[in-house]
Amino acid sequence: MPIQILPPQLANQIAAGEVVERPASVVKELVENSLDAGASHIEIEIEKGGSKLIRVRDNGSGIAEHELVLALSRHATSKITDLSDLEAICSLGFRGEALASISSVSRLTLTSRTAAQEAAWQASAEGRDMQVSVKPAAHPVGTSIEVLDLFFNTPARRKFLRTDKTEFGHIDELVKRLALSRFDVSWQLSHNGQTVRRLKAADTAEQRQKRVATLCGRAFAEQAAFIENQYGDVKIWGYIVAPQACPTQPGCQYSYVNGRMMRDKLLNHAIRQAYGDSLSAEQQPAFVLYLELDPRQVDVNVHPAKHEVRFHQARLIHDFIVSALSDALAQLSATPAAGHYV
Ligand code: ADP
Ligand code: MG
Repeated sequence: MPIQILPPQLANQIAAGEVVERPASVVKELVENSLDAGASHIEIEIEKGGSKLIRVRDNGSGIAEHELVLALSRHATSKITDLSDLEAICSLGFRGEALASISSVSRLTLTSRTAAQEAAWQASAEGRDMQVSVKPAAHPVGTSIEVLDLFFNTPARRKFLRTDKTEFGHIDELVKRLALSRFDVSWQLSHNGQTVRRLKAADTAEQRQKRVATLCGRAFAEQAAFIENQYGDVKIWGYIVAPQACPTQPGCQYSYVNGRMMRDKLLNHAIRQAYGDSLSAEQQPAFVLYLELDPRQVDVNVHPAKHEVRFHQARLIHDFIVSALSDALAQLSATPAAGHYV
């Protein structure tokens, strides 16, 4: 076969292979875009576990009519312009690939309106060349993205979808993790027309406590103590359960780096080490922890789905977490009833 440049749709479908694993991955990308657009309210509607419909609606900044075509193109982003931006990422997205990838493996429509526009516009991309058509639509300021029939044109992927219940379970778990990352945003999640979660914006400590209790369960909220520690410009805060109260089932284990949810090895290792021998073999740590540091100190461009980060001063960060958490846990163990409960 001669060498040839792949048609855009196929190139996008290949890229989609890396980030669009299942409906929950689509929800993650769309919600992260809403958060990057400054939305304070996000509604997520799901039908049939996301295989029929995923709709994410936000009240963020919107996309201007003349940028709709670009928003659906690969390698098009409003979030970085040069390498120095990439080295200090504050937004959740920056690869400019999600919408192009998702629209290559579904029937995607993007409806949006900016505050400067009188009217809204709708765009969708189709076919081998991913030709975008744009037409007028009705929509308040903000954006709605509708993803129909995910993987309809990639049967190998579609085959890997599990039952609607399982897929929705993944979406619900993801929304939980996202809702714990942004207390200031109100959230709504529905499945097949039924509202499953409705969370008001939580501005006070008491409202945040309520959200943690709703999302992590009463037991966690009752046992967890609020902790906070800082070393230079590295800060850790959140909620952690004393070893004697840790559950035997894996429960709430959520960590975030600069607002981004993570399954980071270094972080998990540090948390485990802080608990040390105080947990029995059956017990699991329980925590919701937020690490905040200068964005120049972390590289988020490690994995396409951005589940992992690389810390420039890995040793220092690791040791800081271990010592901050060990101190907090020692205190909690000594005075189990005197913690500042969530
Ligand atoms: P990235 O998030 O990496 O920039 P995406 O493909 O996810 O790439 O989105 C492309 C661009 O479309 C974004 O950079 C942003 O400008 C715009 N965009 C996408 N979703 C939204 C949204 N919900 N609100 C406003 N702008 C959006
Ligand atoms: Mg994005």
